[in-house]
Amino acid sequence: MILECPHCHAKNRVQDERFNDEPTCGGCGKPLLRGAPIALNDDNFSAVIAASRRPVVVDFWASWCAPCRMFAPVFAGAAQGNEAVLFAKVDTDANPHVASRYAIRSIPTIAVFKNGKIADRISGALPAGQFDTWLAAAATR
Ligand SMILES: [Zn+2]
Repeated sequence: MILECPHCHAKNRVQDERFNDEPTCGGCGKPLLRGAPIALNDDNFSAVIAASRRPVVVDFWASWCAPCRMFAPVFAGAAQGNEAVLFAKVDTDANPHVASRYAIRSIPTIAVFKNGKIADRISGALPAGQFDTWLAAAATR
């Protein structure tokens, strides 16, 4: 799969079977899958969800959506301190197949995937405390 580094935006090729081996960016050397949400797309979404041993929390968003812009720093902040969950974002305008597959009708929608399936989802821009509480419950469900 091809993954875009969340730190320097270099494109990295990662083998599915190496996904859980802490891949680092060939461009900047930082971890691809820790510290910041990784942008997923129609091409790599299914492979990432299938490969990740950690729960994956996905922020479905779009650039024109004001609540999405409000929620973005909450999501990015949570990604900095949470090693137990993989944080990912999907731009629903640029990636209509993923958005339609999971019936994303309002944004932001935040969904937690475990074992390849949605374990829980919620819509709307949550404040940080509320999001952390929701995520902790959803990720351990
Ligand atoms: Zn990088």
